Amino acid sequence: MISVVVPAFNEENYIRECLESLKNQDYAGDYEIIVVDNGCTDKTAQIVQDMGVRLVRCLKKGVSHARQAGSEASSAEIIVQADADTLYPRWWLSRIWEQFRGHPEAAAIAGTFIYSHPPWWAYAEYSLRVIFNYLSFWVLGRPFIISGANLAFYKKHLVKIGGYDQSAYSSDQFNISTRLSKVGKIIYDSRSWCATSNRSVAKPIYVIVRDFFRHLSYFARHILNRSKVPNSTRSGNAWKVSRKTLIISLIGLILVGLLSYGYFIPASPIFGKVYVKGTAPGKVIALTFDDGPNEPYTSQILDFMEEQDIQATFFLVGANVELFPDTVRRMVADGDVIGNHTYSHNANHALEFNAYRDIQAAQQAIFEAAGVKPHLYRPPHGKKSPWELQAIKEEGYIEVLWSISTSELNGKSPASMADDIVKKARPGGIVLMHDGYGTLHGSGRALKESTLPMVKLVVDELKSQGYHFVTVPDLLNVSAYNKVVP
Ligand SMILES: [Zn+2]
Repeated sequence: MISVVVPAFNEENYIRECLESLKNQDYAGDYEIIVVDNGCTDKTAQIVQDMGVRLVRCLKKGVSHARQAGSEASSAEIIVQADADTLYPRWWLSRIWEQFRGHPEAAAIAGTFIYSHPPWWAYAEYSLRVIFNYLSFWVLGRPFIISGANLAFYKKHLVKIGGYDQSAYSSDQFNISTRLSKVGKIIYDSRSWCATSNRSVAKPIYVIVRDFFRHLSYFARHILNRSKVPNSTRSGNAWKVSRKTLIISLIGLILVGLLSYGYFIPASPIFGKVYVKGTAPGKVIALTFDDGPNEPYTSQILDFMEEQDIQATFFLVGANVELFPDTVRRMVADGDVIGNHTYSHNANHALEFNAYRDIQAAQQAIFEAAGVKPHLYRPPHGKKSPWELQAIKEEGYIEVLWSISTSELNGKSPASMADDIVKKARPGGIVLMHDGYGTLHGSGRALKESTLPMVKLVVDELKSQGYHFVTVPDLLNVSAYNKVVP
């Protein structure tokens, strides 16, 4: 059984929706919700009772006292921390349960949170959190930024470590996870999210900055403690301090450089496995088209491909698939291969927290149109992030970029673009071309009049050089589609 513990201090504006989302879970097992009344003077307790949810009182003020009281009142095996100003997706508890089942070594499962009304800097914060946690995994072997609103652990472990430490900094987040990590592994599930109110960030900027540095200093102290640097080396003269600063800045610069390289450069493998070319024998090359279907251009290309008896690979945008489902069906009928290129083609897709949902939406659109589920995925603009690549792997896709491309800016002649591609052509190469532009149609850069003439020139020239055209799955020797589970 699972107990969800929700501490509450004057939460009348939030508690009802929170409890509705918790009562509405699709988790099939037994679970209870325990709200801890931490001295409310508003209608919170009344609302909780009216909703038929268990209410426990805790007179000692403070969130860790309340969490402790809630945990003590629970008879469940698993305690889940939740917050009253937060909404939980229906699959939340099921996902936590699956994580525990999949990780028998786990002491705790740490999820994360997003803002229900994201401030402008929210995505930067989400990214920093994930980067920080990956870094922390690497250095400390566990996540560092834990959300108090999304943490689950075995009650026996809480008992073993002596409960919440009321005096500690960040007692229901950093402190509890640090101590739990001594009895088992903390699994970080960056895709288990909940939506919290903006209350926690509706504070002056200096408070946010101060808290950030406080966190940072805790992290630094932990690393220093771990490496057990003797005191004598830390108390050097001014030169030593500045050298230390220099080294830290240098490491920072290298890190930023590496992250930018991983994110912006399509072929960079530092965040995980990506395919940019194949090793199939012979003089073979794969033509790929992004951002379609976009009529009439896509059908013109398909006509030409059919006439030449060539198969290509099309990385489709989900929103466009819904506009032109017949074109998608024709691709499958012609033996061309379809890849997933997200639903909305957001330029900074990889940084987004729920990026994989956009991929799933595209997958659904393609499946509804043509009855296939692509195995190949290509991110918009070739931008990648560690968590996006992780999601790709877990969901059973492979990430396909390219080795040959040309700038397709408006006004460039088909001949010069074709020339550029032909010059860069090598056996095993993957050629990037576009039959569309994002989700645009009928205007601006979506007018792809130059694509077909360019393709004709490329095919003619490469054919005369003895190239054979294959699909990306044939080039990489992988399957084109995932099994459709009914
Ligand atoms: Zn694209």
